[in-house]
Order: sequence, then structure tokens, then C-alpha cells
Amino acid sequence: MKWSKGEKLTFMANPRYWGCEPKLRNFTMAIIKDDDVRATRLRSGGLDGAVLPPDLAATFKSDGDKKTYAARTFDYRVVTLPTGNKVAGDTAVRRALDIGVDRKAMVDSILYGAGKEAYGPVPIDSPWFTEGTERTHDLAAAERIADRVAVMYASRIVELADASGFFGSPGPRHPYARGLLGALPEREFTPIPGMPPELGALPVGCAFAARCDRATGICGTRPALADGVACHHPATVELEAPRA
Ligand code: SF4
Repeated sequence: MKWSKGEKLTFMANPRYWGCEPKLRNFTMAIIKDDDVRATRLRSGGLDGAVLPPDLAATFKSDGDKKTYAARTFDYRVVTLPTGNKVAGDTAVRRALDIGVDRKAMVDSILYGAGKEAYGPVPIDSPWFTEGTERTHDLAAAERIADRVAVMYASRIVELADASGFFGSPGPRHPYARGLLGALPEREFTPIPGMPPELGALPVGCAFAARCDRATGICGTRPALADGVACHHPATVELEAPRA
């Protein structure tokens, strides 16, 4: 075996191996930390195979020369908050954050859909997962316990409002926030079209523009959070109230 630290590992077949003759004489593992560089070298024929994240692996799906294998892992992404902190340690705040997190949106945007929502370190399809401990992105629960509401899109706050005005009258003003409420079964039940942008490749302007029916040319410039909303054309009319 040869090892060039930080560059590659080369394995050679053992000529004195007691068993059958190895099919491969040499096998080299190149150490390439950058996902894009690995994909580029695989595409150009510089590599025979590579470990790639789901978005880059998908670009090889129609390549007849390559075969894609999916590897299931137990790794998970987690956000922990300091319990000793006055705000983050407050049980009500922690509960509000827990039910305010849109886990599905995180799986779709951060992991490109190649993952599952998690409610702790044990995956939901594990035999050790405790059924019934799932917490959904529950706006109705948020309405019951929150005094103030912050809506985030693509990791940025797009609306900050009092809960009573947000869930009641006049309702949310940012198109994404209106879409969230409008998608509820007790309201218009209309899903927001499209998918969130990749967090590593956010557009220069408003991150919601590709999904927004109010977008105009000025939305190519990122709107600042002003007067509680980050939008060039915030809504001024009330959203349809929940059905009785
Ligand atoms: S800034 Fe423009 S694209 Fe973004 S949410 Fe507002 S209207 Fe839509």
C-alpha cells in the first residue's frame, strides 16, 4: 500500500495471497474534499466512482456509463439550544421553536429531499423509535401559545408580527407567510407552488421570487426587513379567515 498524506491511498494486490487471484491489481482512493471537484473528475473520466451528495448524484442518473447506489446512513442534523440561557432555556420558548420548525422544508432544502424528518437521535423508521413523539410543523399550536411570530424563509426572517394580528386580522403580509396559512386545511388549502431554493445557492434578490405571484423586477434586489416584513410588495388585504 502507498499513502500520500492528504492526496491518495493506493492498494496493490498481494501476489502471495492464499486464496483466488484478485480481480483488481491496483485500487486508488483519491482524497478530494470538494463535492463539485469529485463530480467533475467523475464526469471527465478522472475517477471511476465517487461518493456524492444527492443533488450531484442525481446529475449522473441518465448517464448510461455510471451506476448510482444510494447509501442509507444514520447521521442526523440537530440544532441544540443552551438550557442555561434565559430565553433559550425557557420551556415555552423551546416548545414554540420545536413546533415552529418546518422539518420537511429543512429535509427538502438542506438534504435535497434525501432524508427524513427527525424528532431526536433515533430515526423514525428505527424499531427503537417511540411512535407518537413526532411533532409536526403545527401552526395551530403556534397560534395557541405564541405572543409574537417570526416567519423564516431560506434561513432569513421574512416577517415578524404579533400573533393575534398574524393569525387574525389583518393577517400575514409576506407572500410566503400568507402561503403558509393559506395552505392550512381550515383555510384555502392551497399549497405553495415550487420548492425552496438551495441554501448554498441562494439568489441575489428575494429568495422567494421563483414561487411568488407578486414578484416584479425590483424583487431581483433582496428586500430588507422593514416594519416587520421583508418584501417589496407586502399584502395589504386580509387573508381569508379560517372556516368555521
Ligand atoms: S420581495 Fe417580491 S418576490 Fe419576494 S416575496 Fe416580496 S413580492 Fe414576492
